Amino acid sequence: MPSIFSRIVKGELPCASVYQDEQTMAFMDINPASKGHVLVICKAEYPRLLDVPSELLAAVAETTQKVARAIMQALQPEGFNVLQNDGAAAGQVVFHYHVHIIPRWTDDGVRPFGRPGSADPAELETIAAQIRAHL
Ligand code: 5GP
Repeated sequence: MPSIFSRIVKGELPCASVYQDEQTMAFMDINPASKGHVLVICKAEYPRLLDVPSELLAAVAETTQKVARAIMQALQPEGFNVLQNDGAAAGQVVFHYHVHIIPRWTDDGVRPFGRPGSADPAELETIAAQIRAHL
C-alpha cells in the first residue's frame, strides 16, 4: 500500500505545497510544531534513511537548504531544526523518508514531538504561499 506521502505526491491527498522538482517535494506539516513547519520528502517511496539511494539523499538535502532559505526570508525565525525520525522507536510515524524543517524563535517553547491537534488547512495554505513567494 502506498504511503500517505506517496498519495500526496500523486495528488490523491491534498497538501499545502511549498516546492517540488523532479525528485523532491516540500509541503506544510499538517500538525506543525511551530509556524512554518515544512516536510521535505523524496517523491520515490523509501521507508528509512538507510534505504535511500545517495543521489536522492543529496536531492533532499539540496531542497532542504533551498526551502530553509525561503522560510528564513518569509517568516524570519531566528533559527530552525532540521530533523529526521528514523524508526518507530525514534518517533517515525510515516515510513516514507522525510526531513522536518522546524522554524525556531528564542524561548518559543516548541516541543517537536507530542503535538496536539491538526492545523487549520487555510492557515497552512497562507503560510505556504508566504514561503513559495521566496522560491
Ligand atoms: P515522523 O514522525 O514520521 O517523522 O513525522 C511525520 C509527520 O507527518 C508528522 O509531523 C505529521 O504531522 C505529518 N503528517 C502526517 N500525515 C500527514 C498528512 O496527511 N499531511 C501532511 N501535510 N502532514 C502529515
